[in-house]
Amino acid sequence: MQVAVVTVGDELLAGDTENTNASWLGTRLTERGATVRRVLVVPDDRDAIAGEVGALSDRYDAVVVTGGLGPTHDDVTMDGVAAAFDREMAEHPEAVSYFQNHDRYQFAELTDGTAHLPEGARLLENEVGVAPGAVVENAYVLPGVPDEMKAMFESVAGEFTGTTNHVEFVYVDAPESALVAPLAELQAEFGVTVGSYPGDGVRVKIQHEDEQTVRDAAAWLRERV
Ligand code: ATP
Ligand code: MG
Repeated sequence: MQVAVVTVGDELLAGDTENTNASWLGTRLTERGATVRRVLVVPDDRDAIAGEVGALSDRYDAVVVTGGLGPTHDDVTMDGVAAAFDREMAEHPEAVSYFQNHDRYQFAELTDGTAHLPEGARLLENEVGVAPGAVVENAYVLPGVPDEMKAMFESVAGEFTGTTNHVEFVYVDAPESALVAPLAELQAEFGVTVGSYPGDGVRVKIQHEDEQTVRDAAAWLRERV
């Protein structure tokens, strides 16, 4: 399954907030076997959100959107997602009854619009915060607050599937240039996907659907470097 992640927030673009939601979602989606093909950061702007979500939803199997769900003036994500799919925002009957039956707060005390979702959306309950999420066609709209986002993602995690790759890391204490030939040979010999990440030494990531192939490839590399 090919997935795009859209993170919404001016504060992410400005660097005020580190985009930990993107890396967390990348990890969890990959663990599920889904392939993350795009991660985007967009401003709190309805038209920008609508344009990007619309384009990505055509291109990929699913789009995960996080941030900008609350009732404040800069939270326009639901409006943007509704526009992406040509839907109106409307009071969502299930969201209303969810709030009416909630023991943590009174519906009447919530900000106007809290129970508004794109028409026909599937409600995602917020176990940790207030603003509900939604699934609209193949777009999953989650809150920005990391704990709320994580809990809500887990409630739909089963919908993200694919073949999980086995992974092994090999740490090499040599310049990356010394690895050019061995890594090319590794790839050709075992048919594995190889990533090489320099830093303090080089971290080589070896991936394949078959666990034994990964083990063999890692052992082969360790012997040579
Ligand atoms: P709420 O539903 O509580 O109103 P929200 O969905 O409107 O939240 P935001 O207003 O976008 O979310 O952000 C809430 C908090 O979560 C902010 O402190 C913000 O910096 C943080 N946050 C938002 N997006 C991310 C992200 N991609 N990575 C890490 N933190 C984030
Ligand atoms: Mg925001």
